[in-house]
Amino acid sequence: MRVLMIAPPGAGKGTQGARIAARLGVPHLATGDLLRRHVALGTSLGRAVQEHLDRGDLVPDGVMQDLVRRSLADATADGGGYVLDGYPRTPAQAWAAYRIAASLDATAHIALHLRVDDDEVVRRLLARSAIEHRTDDTEPVIRRRLALYHRVTEPILQWYRYRGILLSVDGMPEPDRVTSTVVSALRYRRPCPDPVPLAA
Ligand code: ADP
Repeated sequence: MRVLMIAPPGAGKGTQGARIAARLGVPHLATGDLLRRHVALGTSLGRAVQEHLDRGDLVPDGVMQDLVRRSLADATADGGGYVLDGYPRTPAQAWAAYRIAASLDATAHIALHLRVDDDEVVRRLLARSAIEHRTDDTEPVIRRRLALYHRVTEPILQWYRYRGILLSVDGMPEPDRVTSTVVSALRYRRPCPDPVPLAA
């Protein structure tokens, strides 16, 4: 199965994405993790994106497209599925994700949306900052990421709803409950045929 994950920062994309990918037996491709790995390794890509990550800004589209194209090509090389977490985040990325996946004959079956309140997101990320020390988990940067999510990411849910592949799940309960809700919902959703996009 091929799944896209769309959720505000702190909603549990990373935790749930890893668990769901393991249950489905497919790779978990988390764009934030891929970018942070480049930063940690000091690659030229890492140096180019570090400031964007630290400020909570989006990394430029061209960089993201290359990264996602390579990851999806690897994941689907032998007909495999994927859980793509953190992409798309804008209408332009939604369209790019569709084009990249269509070129690999591997468009998403499900767009999984986790719903979590803003106050809960801020609480979770501030709690995480005490443990993980991510450079973007300070309150001003969290607020900026959240505002960006509402402004540019949330609107793309409509496209997936229209295509009939949106699965929207309450992300507020404790992690095990969210996982079992998602896993049982996926079990009852048979992968549907390639959905028709809005425009050519
Ligand atoms: P969160 O969802 O909590 O913000 P992620 O680990 O998914 O955490 O992303 C961290 C950062 O990585 C983002 O704030 C952004 O700078 C960058 N990033 C990840 N995915 C994308 C994307 N699709 N487009 C642009 N930038 C991205």
